[in-house]
Amino acid sequence: MRVRNFCAGPAVIPEAVLAEVKSELLDWGDSGMSIMEMSHRSSIFNEVAMTAKKDFIDLMSISDDYDVLFLQGGATHQFSMIPMNFSSKDDSADYLLSGTWSKKAISEASKYSNINVIASSEEDNFTYAPKKESWNLDTNTKYVHYVPNETIQGVAIHNPLEVNSPLVADMSSVILSEPIDVSKFSLIYAGAQKNIGPAGLTIVIIHKEMFEKENSDNSNFFKYSKHSESNSMLNTPPTFAWYLAGKVFKWLKKEGGLEAMRKKNYLKAETLYSYIDNSSFFSNPVKIDNRSIMNVPFILDNKDLDSVFLMILRMQVY
Ligand SMILES: *Cc1c(COP(=O)(O)O)cnc(C)c1O
Repeated sequence: MRVRNFCAGPAVIPEAVLAEVKSELLDWGDSGMSIMEMSHRSSIFNEVAMTAKKDFIDLMSISDDYDVLFLQGGATHQFSMIPMNFSSKDDSADYLLSGTWSKKAISEASKYSNINVIASSEEDNFTYAPKKESWNLDTNTKYVHYVPNETIQGVAIHNPLEVNSPLVADMSSVILSEPIDVSKFSLIYAGAQKNIGPAGLTIVIIHKEMFEKENSDNSNFFKYSKHSESNSMLNTPPTFAWYLAGKVFKWLKKEGGLEAMRKKNYLKAETLYSYIDNSSFFSNPVKIDNRSIMNVPFILDNKDLDSVFLMILRMQVY
């Protein structure tokens, strides 16, 4: 029996996809090998990889002005790679602080660049995302970074920020959950293990203009342009994760694409929030406008019961 898995990441993968992978595990397409034993330079793997990329581009309606990279290192690696490439100790970059992940991104970026925190909700335990009126934007910023869906706090900003500088977003826990207007962004990144497929893969959608803004002193591995020129095969990519992500993209298309996902996700979120709101036992601390569709946290109305509740929960799980 498969459990109901509510983990944000690594998260559940469609059972139909796992069954397909199982059936192909020992012998991919009568090749006599598993896909994960194949050279990433082989024509077979190349076909699998490029089909996955194309399906992702179709799903997200991404224009030719962008490239899509299949990298490693997780979203965390992008916390460094972005400032390393697009800012410096002599420059400054704008960051919105709305939860744990933006805080981590700021902490890493601070090692490479001056960081201007445009607004923060930290003093209020990240229970909302600071509104535009409170932002202190720097006109000389190299880019503006934010996290549209703060996975841990369940705090979302539902529309792309409106700024005049290159917009960079960590979409690890919201990508593919609903249609996104990619044209508003210069760079979008997402670790795969939440909404895409297995861990080990990180997808970067990058506007081709950004290649010219990149820091030329970096080694090739830290240059987006080099990954782009080599079709994300500068070195051995995470072949199995890439193959499996490709199957998830096919599954998403078959299910009706991102518009269909949006409907499903809003229905699920609405069901959960209305249960929590109608309960005298549970509550959700997030400001209504910023409630996440993907991650629905709850706390207990009575704080004194927290420790008892967590103890019971632990006994059930382990
Ligand atoms: C999970 C998560 C991360 C960390 O991802 P890794 O791939 O483990 O580095 C970063 N940002 C957000 C928004 C996340 O949800």
